Amino acid sequence: MTVWDDLQGQDAVVAQLRQAAHGEGLTHAWLFTGPPGSGRSNAAKAFAAALNCDQADVSLRGCGECPACLTILGETHSDVAFVRTEKVTITIDEARELVATAGNRPSSGRWRIIVVEDADRMAERTTNVLLKAIEEPTPRTIWMLCAPSPADVLVTIRSRCRPVALRLPPAADVAALLVKRDGVDPAVADRAARAAQSHVGIARRLARDPDARERRLETVRFPLSLRGVTAAVMMAEKLLKIATEEANSSNDERDATEKTALLATLGAPESGTLPPAMRGQVKQLEDDQKRRAKRSITDSLDRTLTDLLSFYRDVLIIQMGNAVELVNLELRSELEDFASRSTAEITLARMDAINKARKRITTTNVAPLLAIESMASSLI
Ligand SMILES: [Zn+2]
Repeated sequence: MTVWDDLQGQDAVVAQLRQAAHGEGLTHAWLFTGPPGSGRSNAAKAFAAALNCDQADVSLRGCGECPACLTILGETHSDVAFVRTEKVTITIDEARELVATAGNRPSSGRWRIIVVEDADRMAERTTNVLLKAIEEPTPRTIWMLCAPSPADVLVTIRSRCRPVALRLPPAADVAALLVKRDGVDPAVADRAARAAQSHVGIARRLARDPDARERRLETVRFPLSLRGVTAAVMMAEKLLKIATEEANSSNDERDATEKTALLATLGAPESGTLPPAMRGQVKQLEDDQKRRAKRSITDSLDRTLTDLLSFYRDVLIIQMGNAVELVNLELRSELEDFASRSTAEITLARMDAINKARKRITTTNVAPLLAIESMASSLI
């Protein structure tokens, strides 16, 4: 096993990063771009592990087995920081703190590495704080910024970073990964990868959780019964409820895993009360998890709207007489019927309305319910 194994369908990126980790073309600032689910932060993490891997032989770096690789993949290495915002944007204070950390020499590894997962969620003023650090790098520091596309970060930042462009892997590659890594049944893996539109994390959830599959199906069926304003208001409420349930259920699973891992690291007793010193650390983790929960509802809502969008995407494909495979194959007859009752122009306008709502929810502080209600009424 190596740190590159999970980067399914990203051969070009793996080759580029491997080469850099071996010392060819290494630079101090990188910009990882790719659509959500393409694995840009995983790619950055694998690269960080390969750079700080304990193997003496350069060609073996990124072994995935040494303490450095394992702690970096587990996000507990002292020289590798992961920055992901729990809020809608990264604040200027957080950016200053990052820059201060970046100035320190690595304590054990070869490099101090800072992975900024949401470089697109920074105000211009905040970006300028980072820019200064990236312009005048400290010798042993490497910045890795992640964003959906190069256009999502300021050109001044972008021009100083080496680009790493991930693509959305084909659904077949995602399905193969689920079968190989998670032992999912091939037919289930195939359906999940298609429904998740190749988003690896979502595909995995859909494959393993029948409730998640049920929630998704409920979402994509909404347009079929959307007849009037009352239905639109109800749809908005229901979508928000589905997104919240989805976020809570994936958080619960992750929260429990993190807590078990923390207790194991602390060497906590298997039963009974925790010693006071450990209680503080557990409390800290729980506070972080609560903050994260809020942000994850926004992300989940965006994902729910993407599912809804896939309905209209399929309708449009049918209306254009295109032979591309449908995302929602199981709804084919409903989709065909729906497509025959509108035009491609109307479908495009509806897709615009959904994308507008997504944008409002993820980039502004508008109340999500208001944004979805206004979207739902333009879908009637
Ligand atoms: Zn290693």
